[in-house]
Amino acid sequence: MLYLDNSATTQILPEVRSAMLPYLMEEYGNPSSKYYLVAENAKNAVKDARNSISSLLGCTDREIIFTSGSTESNNMIIKGVADYYSEKGNHIITSKVEHPSVLEACKFLETKGFEVTYLNVDNFGRIDLSELSSIITDKTILVSIIWGNNELGSLNDMKTISEICLERDVFLHTDATQVVSKVAIDLTEFPGIKFLSCSAHKFHGPKGIGAAFIRKDRYDILAKITPLMHGGGQEEGYRSGTLAVHNIVGMGKAGEMSQKNLLNNIKKLCFLEGYLTTILNDKFKGMLIFNHDKEHKIPGILSVQFKGINNEILVKKLAPFIAASTGSACSSSKPSHVLDAIGLSIDQVRNTIRFSLSATIEKEDLNIFNEL
Ligand code: PLP
Repeated sequence: MLYLDNSATTQILPEVRSAMLPYLMEEYGNPSSKYYLVAENAKNAVKDARNSISSLLGCTDREIIFTSGSTESNNMIIKGVADYYSEKGNHIITSKVEHPSVLEACKFLETKGFEVTYLNVDNFGRIDLSELSSIITDKTILVSIIWGNNELGSLNDMKTISEICLERDVFLHTDATQVVSKVAIDLTEFPGIKFLSCSAHKFHGPKGIGAAFIRKDRYDILAKITPLMHGGGQEEGYRSGTLAVHNIVGMGKAGEMSQKNLLNNIKKLCFLEGYLTTILNDKFKGMLIFNHDKEHKIPGILSVQFKGINNEILVKKLAPFIAASTGSACSSSKPSHVLDAIGLSIDQVRNTIRFSLSATIEKEDLNIFNEL
């Protein structure tokens, strides 16, 4: 079976598995404990992992807070900023094509009296920068905009968004879950980004572990938010709870591998995407419409309409040979909010399949389409 649902999750790399195993067995210490070796070893392993994630993102170690994944990071940042700065303002800006962990956190905040603006997007799912600019007020406490879309792969112009937020002195959070390891990120080049979320299992790390980037200011003080978890004060008090050392080590190794192979992986994903596009066009002549943009996108995500074919039926038919997806949160009763936001009709949404590649796939693997 060829797995083409790598935006949903990825297989952990053998190197990641090997790095994790000792921390499930002999190295079982709690990194918050003191004076004995297994605790010291666990502490050092967490330190190394933090360093590999900070160097993958271009920030400092202290700015990395380990969480259970992007859902938690998104919730922690959005609700945490809202609570901490509620006296300063009650306005939050986001977009209509965010992941549910952003949209639902915002909807929750609306029930608590916050006002949320959900920006419209263009045909490829990108926000309008002048609309963002015009909508920020002195009551705006947070802008939360997805960096790269999970259904379409489209990249927002994060450079300009970062500049706008910096200039207007508004906190910017970005959900970078789909871009980490597929786009080179250097957070020193995006000073407006104060917060970022990511999940290890999207880049060949384990599930249940992710990170929140929280920027520090020039006095070395991390941006303040109210924590979601109160307790023992781990992770600088931002995320209490005993650290999942094995998962953190796995995330660190996955980050290290991503950084080492970044340019080659991007090149390969671009090549595989082109090859798959050619195969699909040949096989399904005249039947396809590509929803995704050709440029400014995450390499390896294809969103394709198969004209007149129900996506659920097709995905089920493909399932023994090829794992693909109808796009997240897309069912006959609840079509994808992303495809709806870019203006597709309900029929077009129901004809859409997402294929998401990984650099671990070989060109020959994709020839399976010719055998169907
Ligand atoms: N944000 C985006 C863009 C995603 O694609 C996902 C996962 O699909 C998430 C957030 C949530 O990540 P997790 O399920 O690892 O918490």
